[in-house]
Amino acid sequence: MRPASKKYYYVVAAAVLFFVAAGMFLIPRVITVVQKSVPLPTAIDPNFSTQVNECFIPVAAAYGYSLRIVSGFRSMAQQQQVYDQGRLENGVVVSEASPGHSLHNYGFAVDVADIWRGYNINWPRLIAIGAYCGLGNGGVGDYPHFEYRGGLVTADFAAGKRPPLLTLPCAIMDARAKASKPLTLKDLQGCAAPKF
Ligand SMILES: [Zn+2]
Repeated sequence: MRPASKKYYYVVAAAVLFFVAAGMFLIPRVITVVQKSVPLPTAIDPNFSTQVNECFIPVAAAYGYSLRIVSGFRSMAQQQQVYDQGRLENGVVVSEASPGHSLHNYGFAVDVADIWRGYNINWPRLIAIGAYCGLGNGGVGDYPHFEYRGGLVTADFAAGKRPPLLTLPCAIMDARAKASKPLTLKDLQGCAAPKF
């Protein structure tokens, strides 16, 4: 076999150098793009909070529910604790979502219970009230969970996307909230609220 010429080695060496240099230039940029982080939320989303406090809870109250928020915003560390419960720690498993996989971590979910009746309440009605206010429900096994994702999947929230703003379904809700007055069934008559 004829030995390759010196010229051949120079060409190969130049090509290798070129790709190493290009890699050194490109790789940090690719990493920057991948790691471009959005700040982690630290509290309940204000728009979601308004919808919960001026629509969901008052409308539910008009129908006889005394809702309290059992769990609202959860940091990643708090979600880890909840996730570990029943897994690493004693107790029953309370969440299937590891950190980052729950809308609680992005400030777009609340868990509710009734002050007097706990979880022994008419969930289908409460789910209808939630839907009226633009909120989705956790479904079978997670009825106390209400959230707003506005068409996004959880990975979108993780990537920093946020859903379009919610609006109150009826102007009187804002007026009652500003006046710290309860919302009545009479108030809701002209509001296309669910009827039971
Ligand atoms: Zn929840």
